[in-house]
Amino acid sequence: MNWKVAFIDLKAQFKNLRPEILHQIKRVMKNASFILRNDVRKFEENMAAFLDIKHVIGLNSGTDALFLALKASGIGPGDEVITVAHTFVATLATIIHTGAKPTLVDVDENFNMDWRLVEKAISHKTKAILPVHLNGRLCQMDKLKSLAKKHKLLIIEDAAQALGAAFKGKRAGAFGTAGCFSLHPMKNLGCAGDGGFVATNDKKIAQSIRLLRNHGQRTKEDIAFFGYNSRLDNLQAAIINVKFGYLKKWIDKRRKTATLYNQGLKDLPLILPRPPSNEDFFDVFSSYVIRSPDQAGLFSYLRKKRIEVFIHWPKPLHRQKNLGLKKFYLPKTEQFSKEVISLPIYPEITAGQINFVIKTITEFHRRKNKSK
Ligand SMILES: *Cc1c(COP(=O)(O)O)cnc(C)c1O
Repeated sequence: MNWKVAFIDLKAQFKNLRPEILHQIKRVMKNASFILRNDVRKFEENMAAFLDIKHVIGLNSGTDALFLALKASGIGPGDEVITVAHTFVATLATIIHTGAKPTLVDVDENFNMDWRLVEKAISHKTKAILPVHLNGRLCQMDKLKSLAKKHKLLIIEDAAQALGAAFKGKRAGAFGTAGCFSLHPMKNLGCAGDGGFVATNDKKIAQSIRLLRNHGQRTKEDIAFFGYNSRLDNLQAAIINVKFGYLKKWIDKRRKTATLYNQGLKDLPLILPRPPSNEDFFDVFSSYVIRSPDQAGLFSYLRKKRIEVFIHWPKPLHRQKNLGLKKFYLPKTEQFSKEVISLPIYPEITAGQINFVIKTITEFHRRKNKSK
């Protein structure tokens, strides 16, 4: 499809960064430094400084970041982890793969875990709360932290969509035992392929994840346990190190785009995300998600006009009959799945493209009114 406005435009990004990225690829290839080399170390140091978190461990995906953080925290068979169904399937898959069970709670108007429902979901088997900071906005972390403290639970953050986002001045990933991030190309900082990392202030957890990602090898002579192969490629780290220099600027552009959408769409019968603010919540708008009473109509109209929009997600995970989670009652999650549309948002989007999206959505509603 030849989109007028793509959902994200990675080709435009490469055009801007081409000399820098090609230089790094050549350098890494020339030195043949591929596995756990300097670029990975440099990435880990830079990211730790940016997040103001002590340890960062580069991994091969956000999925493995979640899985290894859960493993390193000692979560396993017999345990329960409280999380949400309004998320990408990896959040739940990784809990299942440790042998633990997810307990699903509903979300609030910000698409994030409704902290008011958490206490009721705690059982004697509950070990951890796993909040998902969706669309670049953090969960209500003060409330979740005090609940975790009161009931002696761990907090493991799914921050795959929240790199750079903050709550009360503290960045995503810094609130609990570990923060799990993705460097998938669709995220706000992405590799040329898969990548991810864990951020943690806990030295033991950091050491454990460093071993888990590399077959449990302390040294070639000393293997601590059976681990995994989950390392961030050095080539990917070199590419990320280039893009990392732009992250703050890119976040700023996303927030400006969100402001323009909010202004341009404010008079339409839509529910919009909260505007960017510098108060408690610093949102990074990794996605810009609106709610419409006519999801199907608006979605197909925008696609017909060559605007690439998505529905994240058309069927909630507890409604996927093969996953065996149907016992949970999550009315908001179900309602939102019938209303949400994700609009294009990315650093290279032009003012003309933003206006075209606003104009097209406005046009859709004007036509609808006429045909009434
Ligand atoms: C992308 C994403 C993941 C998984 O990250 P990968 O790098 O694709 O494995 C997990 N949770 C959420 C909320 C995500 O958006």
